[in-house]
Amino acid sequence: MKSNKEIMDYAEEAILHTYNRFPVILDHGDGVYLYDVEGKKYLDFAAGIAVCAFGYNVKEYNDALKAQIDRLIHVSNLYYTEPMAEAAHKLTEACGLKKVFFTNSGTEAIEGAIKLARKYAWTRDNGSTDHEIIAMNHSFHGRSIGALSVTGNPHYQEAFKPLIDKVVFAEYNNLEDVISKITDKTCAIIMETIQGEGGIYPADKEFLQGIRKICDEKDILLILDEIQCGMGRTGKMFAYEYYDVKPDILTVAKALGCGVPVGAFVAGEKVEKAMVAGDHGSTYGGNPLAAAAANVVFDMFKSRNILDNVNEVGGYLEQKLLSLVEKYDFIKETRGMGLMRGLEFDIPVGDIVSKCIASGLLIISAGANIIRFVPPLVITKEHVDEMFTALDGVLAQL
Ligand SMILES: *Cc1c(COP(=O)(O)O)cnc(C)c1O
Repeated sequence: MKSNKEIMDYAEEAILHTYNRFPVILDHGDGVYLYDVEGKKYLDFAAGIAVCAFGYNVKEYNDALKAQIDRLIHVSNLYYTEPMAEAAHKLTEACGLKKVFFTNSGTEAIEGAIKLARKYAWTRDNGSTDHEIIAMNHSFHGRSIGALSVTGNPHYQEAFKPLIDKVVFAEYNNLEDVISKITDKTCAIIMETIQGEGGIYPADKEFLQGIRKICDEKDILLILDEIQCGMGRTGKMFAYEYYDVKPDILTVAKALGCGVPVGAFVAGEKVEKAMVAGDHGSTYGGNPLAAAAANVVFDMFKSRNILDNVNEVGGYLEQKLLSLVEKYDFIKETRGMGLMRGLEFDIPVGDIVSKCIASGLLIISAGANIIRFVPPLVITKEHVDEMFTALDGVLAQL
């Protein structure tokens, strides 16, 4: 049998080193626990970065995928399949928008959203190609050139310039600043309803509602990226439901497939006809396997009352995190909604995260000073207690 070090070295030999991975080799999962190759058990508060909403080894989900694999995995978008039609209806019903384009990742959903916004403005303005997009500082929308261009993190962008042109950055939760960046060329404003990688910052109500209002007044498209905060993570199916607004274009991914790579951008009424045949495409996008995953995910959200659980356990998690803010003076505050929460420290958290992992708790950070809690949406209060005990144990020894 290979030792852990041998397996890790073997991986590094052939995998491009774009991640400093934790020294953990995961083998299988069950419920909200993951097990490494030596059988060590980890409580999972990361969910594959807000993806595995139901946890692992879930019979209903696995059975649906197995059945689809035996029937049909892929045909391309040259033909119709029933699973895709069904998944599109479930998604439009859940989000209240009109038309879906399925992608293979979140990044690709962002690419499509940018293209859709530009196409709408291009048509409206008789073929003019000088439209601007406003994006937010500290945002994260993905790593492809288009998505990176609207990601407000100079460190991620620097080595890959030139990026796409005419993107202007504004300060999140500062309506005045956004308004000051609007010109008669602005075609879209893109933002996360809750900034995820940037440190778990929910949009203020006045901010998002103010943006919606100005977008309506000036025929600017509002793109809400709910790749991380959507799909029930906050206790509503989509976080914008808390704000009484709707985007013109929505991006979804992560928990949409709960592990099978599937994303989507969804067009609202205003833009549902902006793209026509030939404007966009994807070989895999929405293939029967991906669609089957999305279908069973939507079914299970309903049959298992996932949103109720998120609201109940999310509130409990918040109480526990608040008690840590009280207890430790190196912890600044906690933010978030539902089961998407951050705990901000005065100190870097890398060491804390590593120690938690060593003690059998998988948590992740968001930025240098923030621990991010994005567990499977099926966790119970007992799991929160178990997480709390492990984290508190690490913090008490700092
Ligand atoms: C993860 C994420 C993305 C990128 O999704 P990928 O599937 O990694 O391409 C984009 N936006 C947000 C808000 C995300 O959290």
